Amino acid sequence: MKKHNFSAGPCILPQSVLEKSAEAVLNFNGLNLSLIEISHRSKDFVAVMESARELALEHLNLQNKGYKALFLQGGASLEFLMVAYNLLEKKAAYLNTGTWSDKAIKEAKLLGEVAEVASSKESNFNFIPKNYSIPNDADYFHCTSNNTIFGTQMQSFPETQIPLVCDMSSDIFSRRLDFSKFDLIYAGAQKNMGPAGTTLVVIREEILGKVSRAIPSMLNYKVHIDKDSMFNTPAVFPVYVSMLTLQWLKDLGGIEAIEKVNNQKAELLYSEIDRNPLFEGFVANKEDRSKMNATFNLVDDQLKTNFDTIVKEAGINGLNGHRSVGGYRASMYNALPMESVQVLVDVMQNLEKGA
Ligand code: PLP
Repeated sequence: MKKHNFSAGPCILPQSVLEKSAEAVLNFNGLNLSLIEISHRSKDFVAVMESARELALEHLNLQNKGYKALFLQGGASLEFLMVAYNLLEKKAAYLNTGTWSDKAIKEAKLLGEVAEVASSKESNFNFIPKNYSIPNDADYFHCTSNNTIFGTQMQSFPETQIPLVCDMSSDIFSRRLDFSKFDLIYAGAQKNMGPAGTTLVVIREEILGKVSRAIPSMLNYKVHIDKDSMFNTPAVFPVYVSMLTLQWLKDLGGIEAIEKVNNQKAELLYSEIDRNPLFEGFVANKEDRSKMNATFNLVDDQLKTNFDTIVKEAGINGLNGHRSVGGYRASMYNALPMESVQVLVDVMQNLEKGA
């Protein structure tokens, strides 16, 4: 039976990417060697790394604009610390919109003062705060573009006088934005790019070198930039799969093309959540709803066993909400086909018919 993978991450990747990746593990580039048993310094892998870095900048329209793309390790979670290590001299400003922002704040506090400009924590992060001011004497402003757990997404970003840093782990490459507004973007690969194990970091190089502390080499963006993202052995397989996914996206027509599909998928599912009397959305304001992770609940919990059964029968995987929210979460990353969303909507309608 066909599977419909709504997992929040690690999550669905394009089938063609999976097939090419599997082949590369057995015989990479016709070398009769596996991708994961050759030197990362070999010309074949260096070409992969360079291509992945180029493609990332190309999709974000940041080529030749003073930005560098890196594929690092340690997940987005290590970026919480690295951002502060490299940019925080005295004080940083953070917008708290969810568990991941909260964790980023915790790491930054190890290295300096944090001004939390606004937070939706009191209401279990079910909206994006909009009225706040950012202190001009902060070293940078940090936000999370898409809150994977709660299903909220920032639709606009503040104009700042200070560097703008954004955790785009769960919506990078899913929608058009003026990426040149951002000075540092980071994203764990395992949503819209590849397997867990590598993190994309895109930095405007001129914001570096301004803090007085000594930075350990592995945590120092400048070290990674100077070594072309090869300071230590990179995560060759995740970087390779990410490169294939970025190529897949390019062949499809880039972010502009995928954004259209993402909008259609979100529209289809949210319309059903709003129409069907058995369901309700988790997010308080409709304009804050995420197009990547739709969070919703059953109005009557007694229908849960029934719903879970027909969800499973339909081949749907990964629909359970995060434990801090409960209910359901349908993650609709770039590689999830419209057909899968239609299957979910059909199941929701079948529940209504049978209720
Ligand atoms: N930031 C966001 C928005 C996330 O969704 C996640 C993981 O789901 C993380 C950070 C943490 O990423 P990692 O597990 O790669 O450290």
